Amino acid sequence: MADEMCAGLEKEGGSRVKMLLSYVDKLPTGREEGLFYGLDLGGTNFRVLKVQLGGNDKHVISRESRELAIPPHLMSGSSSELFGFIASELAKFVADEEQGTSLSNGKTRELGFTFSFPVRQRSVASGTLVKWTKAFSIEDAVGKDVVAELQTAMQKQGLDMHVAALINDAVGTLAGARYYDEDVVAGVIFGTGTNAAYVEKANAIPKWEGELPNSGEMIYEKLTSGMYLGEIVRRVLLKLSLQSSIFGEIDRTKLKTHFHLRTPHISAMHHDNTPDLKIVEEKLKEILEIAGTSLETRKMLVEICDIVTRRAARLAAAGLAGILKKLGRDGSVDKRRSVIAIDGGLFEHYAKFSKCLEATLIELLGEESSKFVVVKHADDGSGIGAALIAASQSQYR
Ligand code: ADP
Ligand code: MG
Repeated sequence: MADEMCAGLEKEGGSRVKMLLSYVDKLPTGREEGLFYGLDLGGTNFRVLKVQLGGNDKHVISRESRELAIPPHLMSGSSSELFGFIASELAKFVADEEQGTSLSNGKTRELGFTFSFPVRQRSVASGTLVKWTKAFSIEDAVGKDVVAELQTAMQKQGLDMHVAALINDAVGTLAGARYYDEDVVAGVIFGTGTNAAYVEKANAIPKWEGELPNSGEMIYEKLTSGMYLGEIVRRVLLKLSLQSSIFGEIDRTKLKTHFHLRTPHISAMHHDNTPDLKIVEEKLKEILEIAGTSLETRKMLVEICDIVTRRAARLAAAGLAGILKKLGRDGSVDKRRSVIAIDGGLFEHYAKFSKCLEATLIELLGEESSKFVVVKHADDGSGIGAALIAASQSQYR
């Protein structure tokens, strides 16, 4: 893993581990001061937030946020419709929040934008959309600069706001956690997808041409994300049902439907503590239309969930160990405390996944060395991280 990371830094396409530069060349320190906005667009919802930073380690004095669902028809409409909707909701939020406050200090409001889709960046506040993922497919936005799209939409709303930074959720998690704890070395997401961000030394990025930034970001994916675990279990069950009579005579329509069994479902079955595995029985019936299973069969089902999830968690832990090793922060030589900040629905909600991940990390690093490594759940890093990076990039500093 550590070797692949180095190869990915060497040249574009040098490794299957894509080492993308974030162009964020400084992380928030706690000394930032003033009012900043954040916008987080990543899944089915988007969030707008406002933070007042106190400076001099007073940190966040106040924060307000609003979460909104993206109307499904906008996920496959046009770019201007999507960004128009986001900008109008942002304008409403700003108007509500700033009601009665005299704002006329002559400064343009500053915003950090967390956009968790593949983007090719050329600077900290611009990036062209490579392709949509998850539920989005807005053809005319592909290849465009998403910051320019948002900026135009805000202008149309008469909203005086400047996008100071474009980041993704892993970079946001890193920034949000580092703001409170300077020992944080990496931000990691285990959600629908998996990715990680860490600070790289500029001179360790041979592929970088031009003026050196001092931050980097890497992404890896081995079918270990929330998006895939349910699907892997579904495929195992389908094969079992075709090669054995373990489920009896069943209608396989649901079992044959791709992505029909989702990770929260297998999580619920995996954590079933009832003596006769009632939850497994329920889920099998409700989701896959498999009824009348024996207790033995249900026990086997839990074991399949365990095998699939354990594999994912162990690979994920190996990835973390690789990052730590690459950074020289695996506790073997450098005895400084190293914190990995993790966010994402899979890590947050799938306890057996996160427990196995943490245990494997200790196993990989060794008892002694792992005492210097801390895994921390960083709740809601990605939104606040955007506002904090906007603050550290502020044109008014
Ligand atoms: P995103 O990458 O879209 O921001 P989130 O961090 O919100 O994702 O995580 C959502 C993902 O977390 C879902 O796709 C699902 O795989 C996983 N997840 C959500 N709830 C649970 C649960 N109860 N058990 C296991 N996994 C879950
Ligand atoms: Mg997210």
